[in-house]
Amino acid sequence: MKEDYYDILGISKSASESEIKKAYRKKAIKYHPDKNPGDSSAEENFKKAAEAYEVLSNSEKRSKYDQLGHSAFDGSGGFGGGGMNMDDIFSQFGDIFGSAFGGGFGGFGGGQRRSKGSNLRIRVSLELKEIALGVEKKIKVKRKIKAKGVSYKNCFSCNGSGQVTRITNTILGRMQSASTCPSCNGSGQVISNRPSNSDSNGLIVSEETVLVKIPAGVEDDMQLKVTGKGNDSVGDGIPGDLIVLIQENEHPTLKREGNNLHYDMYISISDAVLGISKEIETVTGSVRIKLESGIQSGKILRLRGKGLTSLNSYGAGDLLVHINVWTPRILNKEQKLFFEQMKNSENFIPSPEKGEKSFFEKVKDMFS
Ligand SMILES: [Zn+2]
Repeated sequence: MKEDYYDILGISKSASESEIKKAYRKKAIKYHPDKNPGDSSAEENFKKAAEAYEVLSNSEKRSKYDQLGHSAFDGSGGFGGGGMNMDDIFSQFGDIFGSAFGGGFGGFGGGQRRSKGSNLRIRVSLELKEIALGVEKKIKVKRKIKAKGVSYKNCFSCNGSGQVTRITNTILGRMQSASTCPSCNGSGQVISNRPSNSDSNGLIVSEETVLVKIPAGVEDDMQLKVTGKGNDSVGDGIPGDLIVLIQENEHPTLKREGNNLHYDMYISISDAVLGISKEIETVTGSVRIKLESGIQSGKILRLRGKGLTSLNSYGAGDLLVHINVWTPRILNKEQKLFFEQMKNSENFIPSPEKGEKSFFEKVKDMFS
């Protein structure tokens, strides 16, 4: 007694088209001969699933089967004999698996793809100030360009498509795959007239100065692309790109953290006690800040908008000034006497106010 097609695929009688497809896919992968070498029961299951799919995926055959069962195909050139052969089965794979594998299946018939020259990569190191303001850099590059008098013709091996197709047997069956044509390296064109000073592709090295516009706010390791400033392609393709890798030079006093900048300011104990107005260097110039008398070590002053311009949005980060009160390490007699006299002075005894933020709260604020 022949097994029911729905049972073979493990689906219900009301299964939708996509459910049938999915079920078959699963079985086909499970029982594929390449995955089960020498296992005849796997091969048998593989064939059964293919046969069930062949019928159930065709609405006409399916309704006949639903009415009459296996007898619907008796003596009508159906599967009465040895079932489907492997070639028939593999021919199903194209539409079952094709879409899941993108361009993997013979999707190259249409027009010729334009080839592209190779990319050039170059590293550019920038000062923090240049990053803050944005900068235009003139960069010398050695790029390959077409030599004078060079000409190309269509590649004979691939007929100008740049791709050669071949048939391979894989786990999913027989597949048509395309690969880069070895004769023209995918450009579809080969050299026809080569000037003596050029390389085998008809290209010569040219030293050029490229203007690279670097926007404000870039970061270390970012890459910018200058379209079309890489190496020329062979034939009528388009040139590659110039990839500019950003390298940020460390600033002597400002530390970067995203768009914020941090600055460690050291002040004398007298300045902390008496208060002072100080000029500090920002990344784009100097600003004057006022330190109130009695300022505590560890205080962080936030100068809004004095950080770096944001690359992807409006606005700018802040400059965070960290106050460090410098405790003198060496004192002369007079100074020593002064501090000894102050030792028990009430004003010198720490008395943090209730409202004063702890170090940890300040750190929390900084990142909020
Ligand atoms: Zn070719």
